[in-house]
Amino acid sequence: MNDTRFVQIQRRGKYTESEFWEMVVALDARKWTNLLPPQLPIEDLPTSRAKNFVTPVDAPVPDCLTCGACCTFLFVVGVKAADDAPPETIWNVTDESGEVIVDSYLKRDAETLFCTALKPTADGEMPCGIYEKRPQTCRKFEAGSDKCHALRRIYGFEPFLTVQEMFAALQVLKSKESAAVSPETIRDAKIVKTENGNFKIIAEMQNGASRTIHTFDPHRESWRQFQFSGTTLSDAQQMIELPSNTGEKD
Ligand code: SF4
Ligand code: SF4
Repeated sequence: MNDTRFVQIQRRGKYTESEFWEMVVALDARKWTNLLPPQLPIEDLPTSRAKNFVTPVDAPVPDCLTCGACCTFLFVVGVKAADDAPPETIWNVTDESGEVIVDSYLKRDAETLFCTALKPTADGEMPCGIYEKRPQTCRKFEAGSDKCHALRRIYGFEPFLTVQEMFAALQVLKSKESAAVSPETIRDAKIVKTENGNFKIIAEMQNGASRTIHTFDPHRESWRQFQFSGTTLSDAQQMIELPSNTGEKD
């Protein structure tokens, strides 16, 4: 890695939000070497086969063991407090005071940029070294989903879409975009300290409004900001009420 400051920073397990995102931008700039250009905006594609609109329903599902594209490409893979991933595979991100963890992500290798849990073998297989303990974000990323196939195309594991297929997919994406985004959808969430030492989760809504959706004692509960992005207020409320999601420490 050219920037020795980021090599040092990558060895730590904990960062403030500003340090973390500065590091991610620097890593991301290195990532595109030797990759093919994406035909579709990858972030807008579904990770569930049930929601596919590009891949034919009878397309064969690829074998993850001989692939690893998502584990090498996706840099910001969120880990919930309630997940079981080993601590050495995680980067924790704190608020700017360093006081409370507001997000956790799978750690990347400084040289290869792979998720550090990925354990490539000499015969070219790409197994996950923490398969039974991989975070829910990984469990929800389905082999055979449109996003999976798009990543495999930029690694050259699958042929490009034809021009007709690409334009048909872009048309679907355009119609999805123009469908009204619910003002009840959370664009982003921030965890901030309150005057009495507790923390609150502030949802920044699609329509620009801000709402406090939960206040918690950090000694009893632990939340990650990424969990709330893109959910609706009612889904967020359900998530908060589910005891298995709180990462409750008692
Ligand atoms: S989910 Fe798809 S991209 Fe990820 S390892 Fe499996 S086949 Fe490859
Ligand atoms: S934890 Fe396992 S499945 Fe998830 S990105 Fe890392 S190697 Fe892939």
